[in-house]
Order: sequence, then C-alpha cells, then structure tokens
Amino acid sequence: ISTTELAAVRADFPLLERTVRGGKPLVYLDSAATSQKPQVVLDTEVDFYEQRNAAVHRGAHQLAEEATEAFEQARAAVAAFVGADEGEIVWQPGATAAINVVAYAFSNATLGRGGEAAARFRLVPGDEILVTEAEHHANLVPWQELSARTGATLRWIPVTDDGRLDLSGLDALVTGRTKVLAFGHVSNVTGAVAPVATLVAAARRVGALTVLDACQSVPNMPVDFHELGVDFAAFSGHKMLGPTGVGALYGRRELLEAMPPTVTGGSMVEVVTMESTTYAPPPQRFEAGTQMVAQAVGMGCAAQYLDELGMAGVARHETELAAEMLKIAEIPGVRVIGPLDTADRLAVVSFVVDGVHAHDVGQVLDDKGIAVRVGHHCAQPLHRRFGVAATARASASVYTTVEEVVAFREALAGVRAFFGAE
Ligand code: PMP
Repeated sequence: ISTTELAAVRADFPLLERTVRGGKPLVYLDSAATSQKPQVVLDTEVDFYEQRNAAVHRGAHQLAEEATEAFEQARAAVAAFVGADEGEIVWQPGATAAINVVAYAFSNATLGRGGEAAARFRLVPGDEILVTEAEHHANLVPWQELSARTGATLRWIPVTDDGRLDLSGLDALVTGRTKVLAFGHVSNVTGAVAPVATLVAAARRVGALTVLDACQSVPNMPVDFHELGVDFAAFSGHKMLGPTGVGALYGRRELLEAMPPTVTGGSMVEVVTMESTTYAPPPQRFEAGTQMVAQAVGMGCAAQYLDELGMAGVARHETELAAEMLKIAEIPGVRVIGPLDTADRLAVVSFVVDGVHAHDVGQVLDDKGIAVRVGHHCAQPLHRRFGVAATARASASVYTTVEEVVAFREALAGVRAFFGAE
C-alpha cells in the first residue's frame, strides 16, 4: 500500500480521526482484538436497515426478496474472498461459535445424516484430538470439552522458543488415532503463520479432519481455503473491518453435507412432525433461527473492501509494519514473545518489559494516545510456555502507518525510565 493509498484508506475510517486522552491523536494498535470499520461498511449496514430490512428466506413480499438477495450476495462475496464456494460458507455469530459448531458435531452423531461420511464425526475413547500450544482459547476449550464428552484424548503440538510450532515430533503426534487436527493460521500472540501445508498433509495421511482458526489471517493476508486444503475454517467479521456479531464457518461441501447440526430449531429444517425432523441441506442446516442479516451484509461489504484493496498489498504492508514493530526488541529490557524475523509472520507483536507489569506498560502508552492490548490475549497456555502471566501486544491493520509504529516505539522506549526500572 503506497503512502497516497494509505492516506485514502485512513480517510475511509471515521473513528481514526478522533482524539483520546485530552486531545491526543489516536494511535490504534489493537486491531488483532477488533478492527475499525470503513464508512462504506457502516453505510451498508444502515442502508440495509433503512431500505431492505425483512426476514430472509421466507417472506412472500418484495422486501423479503431484497433482504434475501443482499444476505446471499454477502455470502457469495465472503466465499469469493476466502477461496470457497458459496454453499461452503455458513453464517455464525463469530469464530468462537463456528469452532463450537464443529466441535459439537463430533459428540452429536445421532443427529447425523449422510451415512458413511457422518462416521467421520464419531469419536470414541482412544481417538485423539490434536491442537497446538499456541491456540487462542476459542480453539482449545471446545476441544477440551469434546474430549471430556467423548473420552477422546487431547494432545498438542508444542511451541519453540521463538514462538513457532515445533514440528519435530509431528510424526509421533499424528497417528491413526488422530481424528481432528485443529490449529490457528496466525497466532494472535506471536503473529507467526503456521505451516498449513505440512499440517494438512500430515492430517490427510491419517484421515484426520483439519479445522483452521483463520481469525487473524483472513483480515491481513491472502487466504484461499481450497488451496490450503483444510476441511473447516472459522473467522470473524469484526476483525476484518466488518461488524460485530457475525462470522463464518467454512466447511468442505461433502463434510457439511455429512455434519450433524449443533443448534436446531426453525429455518434449518425440511419436514417436521411431532416425532421427528429432516434437516435442510447446508448451509441452512447450520443457520437455525433468525440470522444476523444486517451484520452479514456488512461483512460481505468488508470482504469486498479488502478485496478491492488487494490482499497481496495488505500482506506486504503487514510485513513492513512487522519489521518496524520488531525494532522494539532493541530497546533495553524489552523482550518480544515470538519470531524476531519478518518471514511468515504478521504485524502482531507481544512483548514484556523487564520490571514493569504489562498493565502499567499499557497505561503509559494509553496516556500518549497509543492503544495496545494487555493481558494473556485468550492464550494462557502460550503465556505459560514463555513463563509470563501477561504481555502487552501491538497489532496492525490495513490503516496502520509506519509513523504510528514509530510513535509507539518511542513511547515504549521511555516506559522503563518512567517506572524507575533503569
Ligand atoms: N481465534 C483467534 C486467533 C482470535 O484472535 C480470536 C479473537 N481474539 C478468536 C479466535 C475468537 O474470535 P471471536 O471472539 O470473534 O469469536
């Protein structure tokens, strides 16, 4: 993204114009938690409510038709953006919900349709679920719960000292007992990009299903699920310049056909009698109840916005910002948790400052208008792995500038002196 393009991008985001803490320009470095929204996404959502609002898929009137069309066009836009077919994108309230839908399908096999294929969703004691030590709780806790419900064993791929997945023991971890391999595409703590091809190949060799947490990759780099070859993937609208309350589950068509529903009720059925029910085909089978239509339409608009920006350029911008952020490792007393090189990593940098609590680091930066996140970032095991309870984290998006990262670095350089830790 060139400087002129970046200025135009920033002008699309009204919130970036506001000031904080008594008139200081906002330096928003918390996009990994949630991104800001361009005006066109906000306008699209408002326009839906003002002009098209109706229940989708069932009305006999023009508004219902228009609402349905907007809803399905948004699905098509999101599908095209992530290299999926339309029928492979299921609306969900977010990535957390999407991962739970898959995890619950495995203990829900009695609801299954699809014969042999549904057997892939059966788990028994002795089977294994494989995750990684770097997972966000959203891609860990549902698998722990699944393991508790089914008696399957949870195992994990460890993390190296520089914050990448340690694949040295992969052959021993992925065996005939492995039924699911769930892993994050990009860590929301270290920014490291996982070696998807290697992991997918290992899972395929033993017939295990792969579940990709694509929350941090979809907003910041080109992602094509067909090319990656994963079976399922989850991502959230609010991290990719879209609204809150909406996300998507990607599933390979034949797997969605075979997968039992987790949430049942209206709109996901074909024939209902007092005794039993037949289910609609996917994606509707996984969209019970009234859907978050305005938000979905907003998410479709966000996908188009990013697509027009060009994800290859966005990824280059991320690499440039990551290089700028990583210079904080040269500040005395600052330790970065994660890879120090810019290869296969995005602009998400977590760090600790010797002798200063992460919350205090966050507060000093906030006083200067610089917004970072502090805490365990929903990845307690990964923090434990590095012997820290909390880190501060700076993260970028399409609208982040090098100047903002420099301002952050300069402010951080003064933090230890401020606390007398030098
Ligand atoms: N996975 C990762 C890697 C994330 O960063 C997040 C959001 N912090 C989630 C999953 C959960 O996403 P959501 O809260 O939107 O469901």
